[in-house]
Amino acid sequence: MHSVEQARERILASIAPLPVETVGLAGAFGRFVAQPVRSTVDLPPADNSAMDGYAVRSQDLTPASAETPVVLRIIGVAPAGLVFDKTLEQGTCVRIFTGSILPRGADAVIMQEDVKHDDRDTSQILFIDKAPPWENCRLRGEDVKSGAVIAAAGEKLTAPRLSYLAAAGILSVRAARPPVVGLLATGNELREPGTPLPPGAIYESNRAGLAALARQAGAIPRIYPLIPDDLAATKSALERALTECDAVITTGGVSVGQMDWVKAAFTGIGGQLDLWKVAMRPGKPFAYGRWKEKLFFGLPGNPASALVTFIILTRPALLRMQGARDVLGPTMCAMLSEPLANPGGRRHFMRVTLDARGGARSAGNQSSHILSSLAQSAGLVDVPPQTTMAAGTIVQLIPWD
Ligand code: AMP
Ligand code: MG
Repeated sequence: MHSVEQARERILASIAPLPVETVGLAGAFGRFVAQPVRSTVDLPPADNSAMDGYAVRSQDLTPASAETPVVLRIIGVAPAGLVFDKTLEQGTCVRIFTGSILPRGADAVIMQEDVKHDDRDTSQILFIDKAPPWENCRLRGEDVKSGAVIAAAGEKLTAPRLSYLAAAGILSVRAARPPVVGLLATGNELREPGTPLPPGAIYESNRAGLAALARQAGAIPRIYPLIPDDLAATKSALERALTECDAVITTGGVSVGQMDWVKAAFTGIGGQLDLWKVAMRPGKPFAYGRWKEKLFFGLPGNPASALVTFIILTRPALLRMQGARDVLGPTMCAMLSEPLANPGGRRHFMRVTLDARGGARSAGNQSSHILSSLAQSAGLVDVPPQTTMAAGTIVQLIPWD
């Protein structure tokens, strides 16, 4: 039996990233950049105003106070998007707006709320406060310099990073093609939701959750028909899915029961089984192997086991295929509001709920067939064997999303 870390290392070591393609920014959300991206411009590209107001020479306002206002003559208007062509001379100011380029000679902007108008002479403005140099100015290149790396290889294109790239003039990025992941469920007892449920049958539920998790991990899920517990049927379904996809995930039939055909079917079509059984709960009967350059993940059938082994052992592989730098996914700190006990001999990825103040507690029944606690849970907490974590312990929660 392998430890979680051994299993994960062995899986990751066997994976080559998928080929890289060019992706327009509009379609790049969630992708991982394959090559460093550099800014094409200084950001901001020029010194500009942070406020609606008046561009001034700060030294002109040195004597300004409420008692002795400084009067400056307005020599024009600098709207956003245009370059004001005159230079600010001593004793003058320019009407300016947020984002307008600073006129030559100006080194401060006074907010329009902070000035006084001369009702008899609208061509001049009264200033009653001093201004430190560069007050309310945004400086050229203060955000990023032209040529600087704005996304490193392996970084995920989040919404803020897409805005950053667009601002830097980037139209497209190089990113690995997303993996197509086939989802197969095995079991004579399984029925499609929406069809009648005869005695002894249950509705198939793993493909729905796995498809969502696969999509979250940047993959393209492809759902295949249910597979009966039969060696020949399992072989042909596996071979077809492995041919059509980059990776295939099966659930069920991977244990030691008489009806568990998945491993035999996989090796029977020429697959190389790299590992089987991982010391974790839920999810001990987990299998991993390769068929040609395609990946095979045999997940246990129980719903909690399937989703947990996806997060812990399968998602890292899908992320590695996309060239992601961080393949383990995010964790977040939470504080146990109740003790969390694992009396068993395997580490237990326990389902926990999270309250608004960051307090975590068991989501309820932790048996691997229980879906209600799975659905309630915000994520998983890794509890070592034969350990009770006390209330108040700070834990790393692995969120579902
Ligand atoms: P198995 O590993 O095939 O023996 O499955 C273990 C348990 O998980 C059994 O109770 C199965 O009925 C159940 N199970 C297997 N596959 C699914 C599935 N796709 N959806 C819901 N339950 C499943
Ligand atoms: Mg089964």
